Amino acid sequence: MSKTNHKFSSNRRSAIKKMGFVAGAITMSPIASATTKNINSKNRNRLLRIAHITDVHMRPEHNAPNRFKKCLADIKKHNVDFFMNGGDIIYAANYKRITRERTKEQWDIWNDLRSEFSEYEMYSCLGNHDMWWAAPDKSDPMYGKQYVVKQLKMPSTYYSFDREGWHFIILDSMNDSTISLGEIQREWLAEDLDKVSKETPILIMSHCPILSLCGVFKNGNHKDFSEITKIFYKHKDKKIHCISGHIHLVDAGVYNNVNYYVTGALSGAWWEEGDEHSAQKYWYRETPPGYAILDLFDDGTLVNTYHPHQY
Ligand SMILES: [Zn+2]
Repeated sequence: MSKTNHKFSSNRRSAIKKMGFVAGAITMSPIASATTKNINSKNRNRLLRIAHITDVHMRPEHNAPNRFKKCLADIKKHNVDFFMNGGDIIYAANYKRITRERTKEQWDIWNDLRSEFSEYEMYSCLGNHDMWWAAPDKSDPMYGKQYVVKQLKMPSTYYSFDREGWHFIILDSMNDSTISLGEIQREWLAEDLDKVSKETPILIMSHCPILSLCGVFKNGNHKDFSEITKIFYKHKDKKIHCISGHIHLVDAGVYNNVNYYVTGALSGAWWEEGDEHSAQKYWYRETPPGYAILDLFDDGTLVNTYHPHQY
């Protein structure tokens, strides 16, 4: 999502100083609804534990690289099997004023940080801020999506894979100059879902939410949600979970038996102090900076826990 330019008011700053920081990992329990009703079931086995990091917005300012390293140390304690990067991994390359040097600087910092956890696989999707569209021409090696695909070692702009009996679909939210899969990708999604057996649970990651409550704050949901939910409805006998970011807020919902989760930004308020809407310093509105740990079970259930970080 786009950054707003509100300044953090001095009143707010002093109020927050009085409040202090929230200590420890708050369990935001965004998923304490229908999606976790089987959380205490003894008849299921966890197959995978995944770190979902999104909206990292890596930049040289505000000591962001070192603060990220501290987050990373926390995430590693969860013994995850792999990472999923929900997009907007760099601060912003998409604006017209952004130079080649600035774009490269952000990717260099990110690639440096990536080497700090290269022992983990990371599956990525494209965020709206990741692409540099201001390249002098489309044949420029740094122009657009293909450069990002290369930086993040993605097989393509959208793809799917299988792990431990789960099927994963990684979508590209940035098409038709808006938040959309576009017709070609929607057809691919429909075909990919057709190939998945009824017994195989599915986790779908996109940068922007296909459906969400918090998406209304910034008009950040997929514009083609109607078409996508129609595709999902054909597979209502399957267990489908969708996870996204982009909004910098946390929520969860269920529609037609599909679970939709939004994870807050690892960068919170883009590593800045926040604005007049921030409930606390570094927060975006009421959501602290953080990451999600996803536990995937053999019965197709998923437990999503949001872990705010203190950095
Ligand atoms: Zn975004």
